[in-house]
Amino acid sequence: MTELRTLKVALLGCGNVGAQVARILLDDAEMLASRAGARLELIGIAVRDVAAPRDVELPHELFTTDAETLVKDADLVIELMGGIEPARTLILTAMRNGACVVTGNKALVAKEGPTLHEEADRAGVQLSYEAAVAGAIPILRPIRDSLSGDRITRVLGIVNGTTNFILDQMDSTGAQFADALAEAQRLGYAEADPTADVEGHDAASKAAILASLSFHTRFSLADVYCEGISSVTAADIAAAKDAGFVIKLLAIAEKLGATGRETGTDTDGATGVSVRVHPTLLPREHPMAAVRGAFNAVFIEAENAGELMFYGQGAGGTPTASAVMGDLVSAARSIVLGGPGRAETATGQVPALPISAAATSYYIGLDVADQPGVLARIAQLFAEHGVSIEIMRQTIQRDADSKIESAALRIVTHRASEAALAATVEAVKGLDVINSVTSVLRVEGV
Ligand code: NAP
Repeated sequence: MTELRTLKVALLGCGNVGAQVARILLDDAEMLASRAGARLELIGIAVRDVAAPRDVELPHELFTTDAETLVKDADLVIELMGGIEPARTLILTAMRNGACVVTGNKALVAKEGPTLHEEADRAGVQLSYEAAVAGAIPILRPIRDSLSGDRITRVLGIVNGTTNFILDQMDSTGAQFADALAEAQRLGYAEADPTADVEGHDAASKAAILASLSFHTRFSLADVYCEGISSVTAADIAAAKDAGFVIKLLAIAEKLGATGRETGTDTDGATGVSVRVHPTLLPREHPMAAVRGAFNAVFIEAENAGELMFYGQGAGGTPTASAVMGDLVSAARSIVLGGPGRAETATGQVPALPISAAATSYYIGLDVADQPGVLARIAQLFAEHGVSIEIMRQTIQRDADSKIESAALRIVTHRASEAALAATVEAVKGLDVINSVTSVLRVEGV
């Protein structure tokens, strides 16, 4: 039997994910060698503090604070430090020195994807980041490879476990946002500073990556419209539940105005791609509504494949390390076989659309006076703005003496543009029979 060649692997970061990657590299060396067709030798682990305790027992001599020297000596570099710098510079240095790079850094890929891909192309090396979106779930490779002969029309993702846990808690216990967040923090699902998760920034980075791969165009974080969940109230959740919906924070990327016919580097018929993150109502029978707790899922609609759903653990050291190892073995194989780096998929020029161009269904909650003719006046206003009503349901609210106080009106529209919906809501607010607009939420899957 011929002796396998050895590829040198540098690991940057030894935190939640990095420590598990180091463990797998050392413990499963034989299995990885047989899968990759080469021995994967861990030559060093760059960290800030070489003396810090680690989740996994690892040989002390592997640790260094000199990341720059380490990456220059490697065939494969795994970046699991997080943040923009020095991760960006180290990845660029590694690729310029001919190393393939695997990273889980969604913030960096969403912000600097085009620069990183250009350098990977120039250097002829593979750049992969399966772990950057939805942790353990294999989603980027299916989009990039398995669906490369199809046309994706829409992607819906629950790609942030923290917010899914919080919304799920609110839905199942009736808790307010602040209490559900405190519970998520107590259980370790949310960080002490939860801003990146609850304001949707983390999901927005993932939305940019999903949109770029799905629509073969480079989208960055700046192209993503982002609304978090901090303003979702227990009353919103209760009203949604009552109407047969569940509220999820969705990352959505969809082609609008599309005939679905891409030609060469452009699309004919498609006005662009709407990439957005916001709280969204889903019918309780929708497959994504069943994604509970801190789990993630991505739902894809493609012209020929139809509907596909990918489900699993979106975070955690060991699950995320699985995605990193898949990328690593694949990159090692490409080196062994002498193939080129995987060509980058961004070939199109479809523009990112502003949120005003997005079209979706809406749920509108209104507190209205209980008077004859109110429903007709409201329905007429919607019609005047070109927003068609699918469901209109009224519930009477009574005071302690059973006298009618007001009526709660719940409206679900057909698909309408954000601009038309905003104008309709403004006009409705001006009616003298409206006490208040209690909620306006986007709806998918109806
Ligand atoms: P983490 O626990 O905070 O670990 C970061 C590691 O990087 C630490 O070992 C730290 O060294 C090292 N590091 C940070 N800055 C450094 C610098 N300037 N120089 C040298 N070393 C440095 O992070 P993590 O949770 O493992 O996440 C790593 C990456 O994976 C991030 O990009 C994250 O977004 C991504 N990711 C994480 C998850 C997850 O579930 N955690 C899921 C998907 C993707 P010290 O230990 O010495 O401080």
